[in-house]
Amino acid sequence: MAKKQFKTESKRILDLMINSIYTNKDIFLRELISNASDAIDKLAFISLTDDSLGLSRSDFEIRVDIDKENRILTISDNGIGMDRSELESNLGTIAKSGTKQFKDELEKDDDQKLLDVIGQFGVGFYSAFMVSDHVIVISKKYNEEHANQWESFGNDGYTIKEAERDSVGTDVILHIRSNSEEGDEFDKYLEDYTISSLIRKYSDYIRYPIKMMMEHSRKNENKEDGGDEWETYLEEETVNSMVPIWQRNKKDVDQEEYDEFYKNKFFDFEKPIATVTVNAEGLISYKALLFIPGRAPYDYYTREYEKGLQLYSNGVMIMEKCADLIPDYYSFVKGVVDTPDVSLNISREMLQHTRQLTTIRNNIEKRITNELQRIQEEDRETYKKFWDAFATQIKYSIVDNYGANKDKLADLLMFATTHESGFATLKEYTDRMKDDQKYIYYAAGENFDRITKLPQVERIMDKEYEILVLTDEVDEFVIKMLDQFNEHSFKSVDDEDAIETTEDEKEKFEKTVSESEDLMKYIKNKLEGKVSDVRVSKILRSHSVCLTSEGPVSIEMEKYMAKRNSGVPGFSTEKVLEINPDSDVFSALSERFANEEYDLLDKYIELLYGQALLIAELPLEDPSAYSDLICSLMK
Ligand code: ADP
Repeated sequence: MAKKQFKTESKRILDLMINSIYTNKDIFLRELISNASDAIDKLAFISLTDDSLGLSRSDFEIRVDIDKENRILTISDNGIGMDRSELESNLGTIAKSGTKQFKDELEKDDDQKLLDVIGQFGVGFYSAFMVSDHVIVISKKYNEEHANQWESFGNDGYTIKEAERDSVGTDVILHIRSNSEEGDEFDKYLEDYTISSLIRKYSDYIRYPIKMMMEHSRKNENKEDGGDEWETYLEEETVNSMVPIWQRNKKDVDQEEYDEFYKNKFFDFEKPIATVTVNAEGLISYKALLFIPGRAPYDYYTREYEKGLQLYSNGVMIMEKCADLIPDYYSFVKGVVDTPDVSLNISREMLQHTRQLTTIRNNIEKRITNELQRIQEEDRETYKKFWDAFATQIKYSIVDNYGANKDKLADLLMFATTHESGFATLKEYTDRMKDDQKYIYYAAGENFDRITKLPQVERIMDKEYEILVLTDEVDEFVIKMLDQFNEHSFKSVDDEDAIETTEDEKEKFEKTVSESEDLMKYIKNKLEGKVSDVRVSKILRSHSVCLTSEGPVSIEMEKYMAKRNSGVPGFSTEKVLEINPDSDVFSALSERFANEEYDLLDKYIELLYGQALLIAELPLEDPSAYSDLICSLMK
């Protein structure tokens, strides 16, 4: 029989497994039992509508058999089974190798990184090779006549041939390795004590019985025949408790058990930052066990990510990822919902249950919001962790759908701030606003230091008003979408009316404006095509110039859009050159203008415009000409 080769990527992973880079080899059993349970889920689902199967819920089971003498450990299930082509495609290649990140990692040489990625998908069937050097899988698929056998000794490939199996299901037969000279112990996997402990530790909640023959001893009653006083005998036992963790009372479950369940079921190395249980009774009854992860899954911000909660009904898993159970903006939530109130015999689409699912979703949404708010109030550090991982998600969700969900999500927002706390919610901001403060001030830019040094920020700081510092590209869109919070409008530090002025100040300002009207016109003419206006600034204190924008698009937004379009400016703002009337520069300009020293005046204008660009972190059009200009003025 021709030997088939593993796909290249599978070979490399197999190598890693054989050389067992994972220190915790015990997990192979969890992986194989979990596969068995998934396979039973599938057949259990079919059996709901296919009576010809003659199987009822209680017939499903997983068996673990130990043949110590031949060093064989077998995991069997009466699940859906695999046909020949499935054996080939499921076991000959790593199922997840289609995903992009996986491919990227495979191309690199870093084994540890690759293992991390595999770890995020679950280690899977190949983990069998951590403890076994010869694996046989015999499987008969539902509705197929023949069984098939897949066999491999590791990296030199595998064979597939027809085989015998009475009923539908799968046996995974592991020839357990000998203890190695390096001290790796494998004999223990042939001890019923070790195996049953591992099942209880990792697979207790599996909802089908995991049965094993266990050795017991009893007092020998017929001692006359010369036997020992104690004799051993084998008895079949169901090792796992079969109660899914979400069906148990919260007070009977340790947080550690929840954490373990989360990590195993949803492939995370880290425990969740919050666990929420729901036990709803009434019009619709359900139990839910929900987790808020502490970090975004590797594919979270990609199209490949699929949101959803696992949906069970009467002990049968109906859907792996039921998207209707969780709103888009909380797509990071993981968990399980179990309800008897959705009937399953029609289809997986379950359109007829929309109303029930919506009720559950709304309730879950509220619970998650409450939990996030509780963490935000009581445990800032944990909230920060959440925020690091999912701020982008919440912010984009505020902007999405024309702000349909903005009111629900606004309380979750946090921004860097000039307040000593460094990091604030909008409520904290509005709660501590000064008596004479009308607006919520914000400034946008690359980083905190840069922003707080912007010329236009000074006058707000002088008043000791707090400023929200927006460093995330989407922040300004969020602010624009919110428009206001707690009846206070947001105000950009760029805005002319950000600070109220007295009548005297107004008068003085108007006077300067009218006196310098011709000068401003002259400058505007000179900068034709570069700025849309030149004005006497109301917003500057000690600095001489700055650029602001007119209209809804800020300079920061323009930079953001340009970055998105790889440097090609998508749309540009109407820029305004502002000149501080109280600055020496202003006097210098006025003087040259009055004396008709136009050559020099033109140079000053170029110089000022360049400075304004630099402060706004916009590129100079011609840096070397600019440098020449400065030198010519220094002469
Ligand atoms: P995963 O279970 O994460 O998809 P695995 O490498 O563990 O990855 O398994 C690959 C595929 O092989 C599974 O998705 C499943 O289709 C199939 N498979 C594995 N074990 C069994 C089994 N006991 N019965 C039926 N199918 C199985």
